[in-house]
Amino acid sequence: MFVIQMYKMGKVIAIANQKGGVGKTTTTINLAASLAALEFKTLIVDADPQANSTSGLGYNPKEIENSIYECMVDGVKPRDIVIETDLPFLHLIPSHIDLVGAEIEMINLRNREGKMKESLEDLIKDYDFIIIDCSPSLGLITINSLTAADSVIIPVQCEYFALEGLGKLLNTIKIIQSRLNTGLAIEGILLTMYDLRVRLSNQVVSEVTSHFQNMVFNTIIPRNIRLSESPSFGVPAIAHDSESKGAISYLNLAREILAKNGYVTQD
Ligand code: ADP
Ligand code: MG
Repeated sequence: MFVIQMYKMGKVIAIANQKGGVGKTTTTINLAASLAALEFKTLIVDADPQANSTSGLGYNPKEIENSIYECMVDGVKPRDIVIETDLPFLHLIPSHIDLVGAEIEMINLRNREGKMKESLEDLIKDYDFIIIDCSPSLGLITINSLTAADSVIIPVQCEYFALEGLGKLLNTIKIIQSRLNTGLAIEGILLTMYDLRVRLSNQVVSEVTSHFQNMVFNTIIPRNIRLSESPSFGVPAIAHDSESKGAISYLNLAREILAKNGYVTQD
């Protein structure tokens, strides 16, 4: 594939939903790996103390000394802690468990909602895409992620209570748009863990698409074993089994996002 036209450099996309287990980390790793496979320079920022993006890419969070938190609070330069992963075009700012205390320590900081934006600023020009894996909360670190972001992807699991909490998230996004980051757009709602055999999955797809219409990505991520097992190999699905439905669906998502952002690509 080659790129004919290039638009904005360094687009920052937050992957957010305060609900746990909806596919944020899986989307972060596999979307980023797909963009990298298409030769777009991509940085993952792991902004979750659970550090699942970090471990899912094969790094032990216990061995990580500096994370985005030290950048936000202690003035560590993100450039100094970026890990170049084994995959070409894919870099990572890892996380570790100490992020848990970050929210409390950050309360008294000046511009406490804008710390991540400040820290990432000098890196942005080095990448085509920066993907932030948010934690399952709407706390200060997630607010920081949404303030630093140009857009947000909201993964929604095709399960019972799929829409639960979505109103609160959209409301938080509205507040951030009006007070902290007027440029924040919704990149799209992503349906995840779709199971063809389960009627409920279809119900969720029709419910979400009829409610949110063109906010919903055309690409739907199926439930796929390769997506759930690849983190235990420390690689994205595309590196574990590039022919798998999971890997291909995230590649399709990457292409959909590229097209939506004005990149014209050709096979
Ligand atoms: P979150 O980051 O929102 O908590 P994860 O991405 O960690 O969610 O996903 C929760 C669990 O579901 C993980 O065990 C993950 O491997 C699994 N999972 C996520 N997406 C899929 C999928 N499309 N197919 C199969 N398993 C998935
Ligand atoms: Mg996660």
